[in-house]
Order: sequence, then C-alpha cells, then structure tokens
Amino acid sequence: MEKPNRTDICRFPFIRENFFFTIPIFNRMGIFILTSPKFFLLKQLVYLKKYFWRNKFRFLFGILFTVLSNYFGVLSPQVTKYVINRVSVHLDSLQGKVLNPDAIVKKENYATIIKQTVQKLDHNSNFGNVVVLCGIVLLVLALLRGFFTFLMRQTIIVMSRHIEYDQKNDIYAHYQQLDTRFYKQNSTGDLMNRISEDVGKVRMFTGPAIMYSINLIALISLSIYYMLHTSPVLTLYTIAPLPILAFIIYKVNTIINKKSEAQQQQLSVLTSNAQESYSGIRVIKSFVQEKALGAVFEKNSRLYKDKAIDLAKTEAWYFPSIALLIGISTLLTIMIGGLFKINGDPSITIGTIAEFVVYINMLTFPVSSIGWVASIIQRASASQKRINEFLLQNSAIKDTGTKTFQDTKMDLQLNNVCFTYADTKIEALKHINLAIRQNWKVAIVGRTGSGKSTLIQLLLRLYDPTSGNIQINNEPLNEYSIQALRRAISYVPQEAFLFSDSILNNIKFGMDAVLDEAVFRAAKAANIHQEIMAFENGYETLVGERGVTLSGGQKQRISIARALLKDSQLFLFDDCLSAVDVKTEHAIINDINSLLAGKTAVFVTHRIYSAMNFDQIFVLENGAIMESGTHTELLLHKGYYYHLYREQHQNS
Ligand code: ADP
Ligand code: MG
Repeated sequence: MEKPNRTDICRFPFIRENFFFTIPIFNRMGIFILTSPKFFLLKQLVYLKKYFWRNKFRFLFGILFTVLSNYFGVLSPQVTKYVINRVSVHLDSLQGKVLNPDAIVKKENYATIIKQTVQKLDHNSNFGNVVVLCGIVLLVLALLRGFFTFLMRQTIIVMSRHIEYDQKNDIYAHYQQLDTRFYKQNSTGDLMNRISEDVGKVRMFTGPAIMYSINLIALISLSIYYMLHTSPVLTLYTIAPLPILAFIIYKVNTIINKKSEAQQQQLSVLTSNAQESYSGIRVIKSFVQEKALGAVFEKNSRLYKDKAIDLAKTEAWYFPSIALLIGISTLLTIMIGGLFKINGDPSITIGTIAEFVVYINMLTFPVSSIGWVASIIQRASASQKRINEFLLQNSAIKDTGTKTFQDTKMDLQLNNVCFTYADTKIEALKHINLAIRQNWKVAIVGRTGSGKSTLIQLLLRLYDPTSGNIQINNEPLNEYSIQALRRAISYVPQEAFLFSDSILNNIKFGMDAVLDEAVFRAAKAANIHQEIMAFENGYETLVGERGVTLSGGQKQRISIARALLKDSQLFLFDDCLSAVDVKTEHAIINDINSLLAGKTAVFVTHRIYSAMNFDQIFVLENGAIMESGTHTELLLHKGYYYHLYREQHQNS
C-alpha cells in the first residue's frame, strides 16, 4: 500500500489550508508553554509529592470533606427555590388559581434528597408550617456545611503544618551535612530565609491554596451541574462574567503583590539600618554622627511610608471592586432571568431566579480567589525553587570510610599535601610533607595567611586536599568515618564560638553525662575557673545576647575548656590564645601540658610559646614549610623562627 504523503493530504482543500499551518502554531505553543519561566517554576513543586504521599489520608479525607461541605452548600439554594415557588403557588391559589403543590417539585429540577424531603414536609403540614420547616432544613444544611468546612480545615490545613514541619527538618538535616565551602558561599541570612520564609510560602500552597482550589473545583462542578439541569441558557448568561471577574482580580492581586514586596524590601532596609545604628552606637557617638545617621533613617522611613500608602491605595480598590462585580453578576442574573420569564420561558420560575442569585453569590467569592490562589502558587514555586537549589547541593566531602579508632594511638603523616580554595583560587598549602608521631606536642608557627588554619581544617576533613594525602596510623584519612575521625579530635577553632546558653552547657557541649567536677578541672586548666566563679550565677551564667558580655580572651578560654573536657586522642589548638595576655598564656600552657600527657597535640600560633617544650616546630610561610626542628635547633639555624623569637622577646 502506498503511504499517504503530503500531496495526498493536500487534496482536501480545508486540511491543506489549515493543517500545515496549524502544526507550527501548536509546536510553538507547546515549546512556549514548556519553556515559559512560569511553567518551569511549577515543575519545582513536584518535589513536594513525597510529602503529600506521607499525608495521603489527611489529603484524601480533606478532599472528601470539601466535597461534602460544598454538596450541602449547593443544596440550600434549591430549598430557597422551593419555598419561593411554594409561596407564589399559595398566592396564586388565594386568587383562585388552583395548582397542585406537587407540580412545583415535578416541574423543576431538584436533587433527589431535597425533592424527597420537601415532598414529605408538604404532605404532612399546612402552608405556614411548610415554610417554617423549610427554614429549619436550610439551617440544618448550613450546620452540615459548617461542620464539614471545619473538618476540611482540620485536615488540609493540619496537613500543611505537618508538611511544613517535615520540610523544615529535612532542610535542616541537609544543611547540617553540607561542607564548609557551602557555608562560605551562602550567607547565614540566605540559609535562614530558605528554611523559614520560603518554607512558609510553600505552606501557603500546601494549605490554603490547595484547600481553596479543591473547594473551588467542587463548588463549581456541583453548582454548575444543578444550574445546567435547571436552565442551560440562563446558566451560560450568568456565569459568563465570572472568568472576567477572576482575571481582573488576578491582575489587581499581581499589582498588590508587587507593591507589598517593595514595601517589605524597604522595611528590611529600614530594619537593618536601625540595627546597625544600635550595634555601632559607640562609634556613632564618638564620631558625633547622630544627626547624619538620623537623616538617613528619616529618609528610609519616609520611603517606607510612601510605599505603604501606595499599597493601601491599591488595596482600597480591592474589596469594592469585588463587591461591584458580584453586584453586577447578581443584577445580570435577575435581569436575564426576568426577561426569560417575561417572554414566557416555561423552565424559569421566580424560584429559579432566586436559586441562581444564591448560586452566583456562592460562586463569586471562590472565583475571585482564583487570582489569589494563582499568586500563592507562583510564589510557592519560586520559594520551592530556592529550597531545591540547596537540597540538590551535595557535600564535596564524601563520607565513605568505615574505619574507627581502636586505641589511643595517633600518628599523623602528610604527604605532599596541596590545597587550593576552589572559589578564590588561593593556593593555601603547597607540597606539605610532615609527620607528627604519637604523643608529640607540635607547634605550627607562621604569619597570618600562611595557611595554618587551612592545615588544621584538612586534618578535621572540613576540606579535602586538592592533591597529596593525609594518613593517620598509616591509613588514609578518608578510610575513617567522618564521625569517628571528628570524635577522636578535640578542636579549638581560631574564632571562639559560644552558644546562647549557660557557661556550663557551653563547656559540656554534647557531653551531658560528664560530671561537674570534670568541667571544673577543664576550666581550671584553661585558667577560666576563677573568673566564672566570680560571676553572680557562676557556671549557670548565661552568655550571648541576653547574657553577660565576655571578653575575647574569656571566650577563647571557655572554648579551650570545652575541648579539654572532650577527652580525645588528638588536640588541635588553632591560634586560640591570641586574645590572652602573655602571663595567662604561660599559665594555660603549663596546665594544659599536664592534661595532655599521653596525647598528641598541635598548637597553631603566630606567637612563640617558649614555655612549652615542643617535640617539633614547623614554620609555615606562604603555604609551604620553611623550616622545622626543635626550639633549640631552630634558634641555631638563625632563620625566620630565630628572628620572630628575637622580635617577640626583645623586651622581656
Ligand atoms: P592562617 O591561619 O595562617 O592565618 P589561613 O589558613 O587562614 O592562614 O589562610 C591561608 C590563605 O588562604 C590566606 O591567603 C587566606 O586568605 C586564604 N583563605 C583562608 N580561608 C579561606 C577561605 N575560606 N576561602 C578562600 N580563601 C581562604
Ligand atoms: Mg588562622
């Protein structure tokens, strides 16, 4: 059989003219939709499906309750219709026209349940009672609707809170396992925003937006179903303005969102402006800059006020315009329904018009929320995109090792280790070869920027070497599990960091079972015990924003105590006495020395600790080892170390 080709199709003029013409349009439309930024954003929300799956029962019940609440909602206009028609029949009968009440029900379209209920009521009572009983039915329907609306919120909004909780925990856990490079590249503020504000915006989607969407779909399908059964033509006329309403509100909403974002931005400018003034108050006062900074604040504050007023002006239009549109829809329904009735359309009664008016009023608010829902979805997808960006990042430090430390042995070896910071391309370490034997106390001496801290961070596997390798007890560092490795090391970072908690908890950090005596011993060795005891609350003194302000040296010594308390095989002290005076430094080194018996320890310093008898001293300069040896050897060598020593000890 011959394959149909292009010319075959072209024999039919209609297809010929339209077929080839439409293909590129559809293609282009498809490509346009798939590549449009908004669609791309929506794909981000797919990530949430695992959370919905986890909450599937809540979600399913939520949908069920929403449908039920709307079902009872759309039944009530039918009761209204019945009552009105019943009243008009009654009025007619007073004028002598006799009509069987059953005919009202038969002639019109009712849901079966309503039909049966009202027929039963009508057969057993007189006219006055029927009206009252119908009122009671309306009340019961409203109560049922309210009850299921309550359940709907209880399931869907509760589900969104569960999703928010899970999502926050997942993000937090992911943050925790990311490496130092990630933390350097992203600001703390950014990390905080994504875990709080962005998760909050996504919750607006998983909660309210989903709820309103299901509600809207349920309400529209149910009410339009009954409306179409009653009068298709009137239905079309009355719902025609709704899409226009939705579109206008969507547009107004977009404008409001833009303005509200501008206002938020200005607010954060204003806040950080104020915050900086408070924390820098001493500088401001001593340079007599109060007036100048006051003027800056005033300007920012004025900008904020203008933006807020601008937003308020737009928002002022919002509800009146919705009310206007609802009013117009109602009027249209009455007018068109009225015209049909006047022209003698048999399917339209006064009751039908009343029913439609109620339907339209029920529909307009949910329809007007479409714009609001659309903007929530847009924001949620933008937020989820930002969250996904972080979730998709993996730590460059791979934790594939399984070895642990069996004994107290700690023998370090660095073979030709080079390290370059990926972002700045700074070569911080160049071909480092060194060995640190079990039990040794070692110093790494060098100017700032010579690579000392980098070296320490490689030992902790906060970074991995760019080339070369590090071994502990003749095993490559990455053969050990990261947890085991870090457990075996006590590390005092260059910048002492204390949590907003008591001093006791700061020293104990993570070792809750430790006795207070052990804490005191560590604090004594770090030469901080007496100062802590001098505080009114002793070890229970709070540090941080709401607690006491500690000096740099005090913080350093508390963080030394913390490391000493953690009884490990290897101690790494990174320039942790820089803010301590020479006398205290001597005392600390003496005390530490006795605690470190049988352990391996590395002291990083830019000051020479002559009080300590190091087994080996490595002098770093520009990322390379310039000289090494014992104190005496290095002094004899008369190199960099000798000069540094002379410089520091000239006056003493
Ligand atoms: P030291 O501790 O001896 O003062 P560092 O190890 O901190 O020296 O720094 C060595 C070099 O690496 C310096 O030139 C410094 O600017 C650079 N450096 C340090 N930390 C980072 C980092 N996180 N990212 C990029 N470059 C860094
Ligand atoms: Mg350093």
